[in-house]
Amino acid sequence: MTDLKVNFSRLVKDLEELGQIGQDQRGGISRPSFSLPDLEARTWLRRKIEEAGLMYKQDGAGNIFGRLPGEQPQVVMAGSHLDTVINGGRYDGSVGVLAALEGLRRIKEENIRLKKTLEVVSFTDEEGNLVGDFLGSRAFTGQILIDQLKNSRTQFGHPLEEILQKAGLSIDSVLGAAGERPEVAAFLEIHIEQGPMLEEEGVPLGLVSSIAGKRYYQATFVGRAGHAGTTPLELRQDAFIALADFSLRATQLVARKYYGNTITIGRVLLKPGSFSIIPGEADFTLDLRSQDSSSLQAMEEEVLGLAAEVASTRGLVFYRKLVDRTEPVIIKAEMLDLLKGLCQKLGYEYRLLPSGAGHDAQILAAICPVAMIFIPSVDGISHTPEEAINLEDLEKAANLLLQALISLASE
Ligand SMILES: [Zn+2]
Repeated sequence: MTDLKVNFSRLVKDLEELGQIGQDQRGGISRPSFSLPDLEARTWLRRKIEEAGLMYKQDGAGNIFGRLPGEQPQVVMAGSHLDTVINGGRYDGSVGVLAALEGLRRIKEENIRLKKTLEVVSFTDEEGNLVGDFLGSRAFTGQILIDQLKNSRTQFGHPLEEILQKAGLSIDSVLGAAGERPEVAAFLEIHIEQGPMLEEEGVPLGLVSSIAGKRYYQATFVGRAGHAGTTPLELRQDAFIALADFSLRATQLVARKYYGNTITIGRVLLKPGSFSIIPGEADFTLDLRSQDSSSLQAMEEEVLGLAAEVASTRGLVFYRKLVDRTEPVIIKAEMLDLLKGLCQKLGYEYRLLPSGAGHDAQILAAICPVAMIFIPSVDGISHTPEEAINLEDLEKAANLLLQALISLASE
């Protein structure tokens, strides 16, 4: 059984077909969840699942499953997501779903009897185009709250309820998705690295050792607007200067005391926003990430404390609201040992690496052991039309996943 390999040309053909869906004007793929291209991709995946002789199911959150029943109801699951960012690439998410689908097809074709049930899954809105990332996997694992969904609007301004209705779903059905969940024994996800490390070292496979957790804040320094010509510098409560001071000091703090963690201010809006007026308000996003729970918490406290201190010394007020959080995940040793052992058997070179980006596997870690296999991103880039992979790396990852599924479902 250990020499069973995927039908790689079939997997490549699937990737090419899926890559035709949602092509945009700028040469990329735009397939946000429940957009017309996403609905087309969902129909396409359903057909592939049914053609393979797997059992199709969509849950209340729009997550799509293809099931290969085993002797027991516990499920070993593998997959990722088919949605993309606007003007994204062909491989983020897609490789994880299609490699899992191919693995299940091969096991079914060979009539391999397994103890546990296998499922390929495509989770809804991993990219967070609707209301925060991981909507599908959060709903599946029961980690979504009604407050997050009720009266919320997508980033394109549409009420979530309306978008869900068009897809035959509702807020209640999303909240109910966890109730339909089978017992999940393990979850595996192949993904592109989205960074430069594997390519730089010339290694075809990355076994993820941990996944970063994050805190997203929407924050504001509130000072006082005033005339740019008549207010002396020493009498100002300039919100931009406070933000500039804070951002430099906070970045230095993280680099010095929390090396390896990250802090990013990704969007800034100054108000009133004019040549001749001192900014009275600086709204900004604050993104904090770490591979370690206690380090993340300590950094969060210290960075927020620094913001309050900068505000008070400069005569301003600092407000913040937590808008999203995920916890870091350490991949369990038994899952890593399984993948390492299989790599050795298959003769595949690998290295361990942490994931700085979040993934559905991280959300699934709340209910079962998880593991992730990374393949190199050409030039380390992702979320752009130029996103690329080397196909031979995907072939190795898909074969490794196939072997891991057989092994986990045989126990
Ligand atoms: Zn992804």
